[in-house]
Amino acid sequence: MENVQTKKTVLVTGGTGFLGIHTVLQLLQQGYHVKTTLRSIAKKELIVKALKEGGVTDFSNLTLIEADLTSDRNWEEAVKGCEYVLHVASPFPAQDPKDEDELIIPARDGALRVLKASRDAGVKRVVLTSSFAAVGYSRDAKNHVFTEKDWTDLDAPLPAYIKSKTVAEKSAWEFIEKEGNGLELAVINPVGIFGPVIGGITSASLDIAVSGILNGSMDKTPPFTMGVVDVRDVADLHIKAMLYPEANGERFIATSDVVMSFYDVAELFKKERPQYTFEIKELEPISKEFYKAMSNQKAKTILNWIPRSHDEALLASADSLMGKS
Ligand code: NAP
Repeated sequence: MENVQTKKTVLVTGGTGFLGIHTVLQLLQQGYHVKTTLRSIAKKELIVKALKEGGVTDFSNLTLIEADLTSDRNWEEAVKGCEYVLHVASPFPAQDPKDEDELIIPARDGALRVLKASRDAGVKRVVLTSSFAAVGYSRDAKNHVFTEKDWTDLDAPLPAYIKSKTVAEKSAWEFIEKEGNGLELAVINPVGIFGPVIGGITSASLDIAVSGILNGSMDKTPPFTMGVVDVRDVADLHIKAMLYPEANGERFIATSDVVMSFYDVAELFKKERPQYTFEIKELEPISKEFYKAMSNQKAKTILNWIPRSHDEALLASADSLMGKS
């Protein structure tokens, strides 16, 4: 690992997002020079507020740049002088739009813009935030443990978000193979990301699976399970994938050891945080056949990654959203 004196410049795209802000925070805490992009500079105060809440007092190592995934403007400036680029930004709405291109185009073309600009600027490695959406959403899950070898099948009918993440990751690998010219790529495939909210920056995963359960708007258990991972561990895994030589050319599933239904999440909150449960509806358990098995061994073994438990991730979200942390 590098020491603080030799710390390099890293670009994190999407500093206004839940994962983006935690990644910026960890890099600053570790002494890196950090550049981050945001769609509108008007959101600058949001980033500053969140980082202050995370304990940052010196902002001299932080540079903010306005850039949108759907436009070429400023990407050359954003990657300039960077050793590493963590491409986190991608649209992640709580509900799929009617037109899937609203997600697919920024996800795919944004990733390609970031990769091209990185290659042309001599960046060493890009770490792309993909998703378990690009791993485990088309084949039969029965008797199968999903690993990084699995790919969601683009010929299957897919919801727009899942398709956008799969198309973007496939396009990124294709770019590296055909036009990368030595640029390195590693990919992180997170499951549902939870953990503490800083500066009020949430995401669709928290809005649906934590706020939705705590405020009672979730009144039935959807017939699926989700892996759960803490945002602090996903940020840590991005930094490990940026630094470990062995991460080049690899994808890594980011999950804790357990998958959960929304019923399980509600039961956890009722048991561990009875003071928050006044709005929680009675949810029904779902059949064990909906529980997907997945492995986090690759990240643990190759990158020495040690994720927090699913309980810790979800309770940290609940506590920060309820203003108790
Ligand atoms: P988030 O809080 O919604 O963050 C998304 C980020 O992408 C925001 O900074 C957003 O900027 C930015 N963005 C969206 N469209 C953009 C565009 N056209 N141009 C520039 N920036 C754009 O969600 P998140 O959970 O942190 O997601 C971060 C990454 O993790 C995404 O790639 C997502 O697919 C992936 N992921 C998330 C989960 C999860 O459960 N949360 C699971 C697996 C993978 P604005 O603030 O301007 O909207």
